Amino acid sequence: MVLKEFSPMELTDEERAIYEWQIWVDDLSESGQEKLKGATALITRVGGLGGPLAQSLAAAGIGKLILAHAGNTRPSDLNRQILQTHDQLGKSRIESCRRRLLELNPRLEIEAVPENVTEGNSARLVAGADIVFDCAPLFEERLLLNRECVRQHKPLIDAAMFDLEGQLTTIIPGQTPCLACLYPEVPPGWKREFPVIGAVSATMANLAALEGIKLLVGFGELLTSKLLVYDARSMTFRKIAIHRRVDCAVCSALGPPPERATPAEKDD
Ligand SMILES: [Zn+2]
Repeated sequence: MVLKEFSPMELTDEERAIYEWQIWVDDLSESGQEKLKGATALITRVGGLGGPLAQSLAAAGIGKLILAHAGNTRPSDLNRQILQTHDQLGKSRIESCRRRLLELNPRLEIEAVPENVTEGNSARLVAGADIVFDCAPLFEERLLLNRECVRQHKPLIDAAMFDLEGQLTTIIPGQTPCLACLYPEVPPGWKREFPVIGAVSATMANLAALEGIKLLVGFGELLTSKLLVYDARSMTFRKIAIHRRVDCAVCSALGPPPERATPAEKDD
């Protein structure tokens, strides 16, 4: 699978000291750390999923985060939105995210956007990122972000959870199924508010962060054309093979799925 080469940035001595134990991971090493420093990730909705994800990427030394989340902190956010604090109740969520992340990593560049993904801002938000993490609870936002990532050929990691179950997949436009291949339409009955234990959303967030680090650095096996399903009730993980829809309204224009390629194309 061919992925874009991400532009590395040389580390300072301070950064070599901070990331020393991470650089000891053979698959990552200093060259991988330089790729993380040179990377920009977009996270849409920085709540129960996006908050712990942003925290893990910030701690891992990603260079820049574009964070998009509207609204003010509410008491009911505090069981899972770990970048929010009591003293922030009634105030901007995204400003709390910025403050907490800079306390963790003051070298991090943050573009904090006090908006959720909309038709009006999706193209601009995606254009600024090397990799996109979809952490929105609403299918309308997830499918909108998917469409824009496919249009701009940007890798998209889609994380979702409900109750004690989580799902995760990595989308490489034109190569893997996109979110619309899985969900051609918004499933009926889905609501913005749903049951969630913070540890479940944080588990999916950290799996998404690992998937992003692997993709940016270029090691390991990605969840491409696979849906990871986590069941916290039984403590089981399943990987389900997923396939592109030849009639997908979003990604079929990018050409046939790889499994339909001619033998000569398969050699590339
Ligand atoms: Zn598709």
